[in-house]
Amino acid sequence: MSLEILDQFHDPALCKNVLARLNDTLTGPLRFMEVCGTHTVAIFRSGLRSILPKEIVHLSGPGCPVCVTHESEVNAFLDLAGKPGVIIATFGDLMRVPGSHGRTLKAAQADGARVKVVYSPPDAIKLAAENPDSIVVFLGVGFETTAPGVAASIIMAKRQGVTNFRVLPFHKLVPPALMALLSDDDRESGGGIDAFIMPGHVTAIIGIEPYRPVVERFGRASVVAGFEPLDILQALLFLAECQRDKTPRLANLYRRVVRDEGNAKARAVMAEVFTTADALWRGLGRIPDSGLEIADAYAAFDAKREFDIEIKECPPLPGCKCGEVLKGKLPPNRCPLFGKACTPAKPVGPCMVSTEGSCAAYYKYQVD
Ligand code: SF4
Repeated sequence: MSLEILDQFHDPALCKNVLARLNDTLTGPLRFMEVCGTHTVAIFRSGLRSILPKEIVHLSGPGCPVCVTHESEVNAFLDLAGKPGVIIATFGDLMRVPGSHGRTLKAAQADGARVKVVYSPPDAIKLAAENPDSIVVFLGVGFETTAPGVAASIIMAKRQGVTNFRVLPFHKLVPPALMALLSDDDRESGGGIDAFIMPGHVTAIIGIEPYRPVVERFGRASVVAGFEPLDILQALLFLAECQRDKTPRLANLYRRVVRDEGNAKARAVMAEVFTTADALWRGLGRIPDSGLEIADAYAAFDAKREFDIEIKECPPLPGCKCGEVLKGKLPPNRCPLFGKACTPAKPVGPCMVSTEGSCAAYYKYQVD
């Protein structure tokens, strides 16, 4: 996209115009959840939050991949990092995410475990090729956005004959988590979620149809939006129009990036390598069919099978309210540890670790 076009999405006059229309359209409180951590940061960074009408209540959702990685899954990473002959390959943002005892991969690395930060799954394949006497395990976390790339890397490793590359698959799928969230949501009590801004990047893969039940079964207006100030204001205007008309609708307002039908090729790669399975989410618990396992045809690349990894549920970190934050039930700055025992320099929970985490965003932008 040219910078000129992007500039239009920051144009103060256009933004003011949409903001005025938003003010005119609202008919009452509108509690909207943005599912994606990138939206959380975009809303704060642009200063939008401070100028939105007071009727609009902003809730952060479970869309930060690192934040929803369960304590038990982090424990499994740590167990694996301690095994002889294993090199863990991971994206950097997992390094400081604590397991159930507060221990992290960074601490394991400091104690001598072989943990390498990589920038892409093919980097992990290269690492495997360079270390033929070790097993390189790539930690597969994230949503539908990262899963196709990880699936493609498994296919690539098979084609290249890299036999010591493995993936530990803890990918998560957004639509089942939204259904689980809404099944437990009480809008009648005055809390709860009225509407959603859906994640742009995830939707670029899955398309908009998986959100249809959010609108038709649960009655929540939903809009796919980009990350510029005008994108977000237009999305809120759409949600306010649904509120005014008392008609929840689904819209894609991010057409410059997201096709309604998503990316069929990326989904085909995922379907070749993965099958759906139940998954554990931090804060949300076990959700049916919300995760991905490696299919039998690619079992040779599955670290779960090779190391017989079983995920055992464990209690949340003492005092950490990430679970409530990820469900939109507690603003981050209402966690008793926020800004005191828990800061970005010394995070207690994953929502303070990741740059997409809502606790880190509240801290960085000093939200009251
Ligand atoms: S402030 Fe820290 S301890 Fe509290 S919910 Fe956020 S990450 Fe967890």
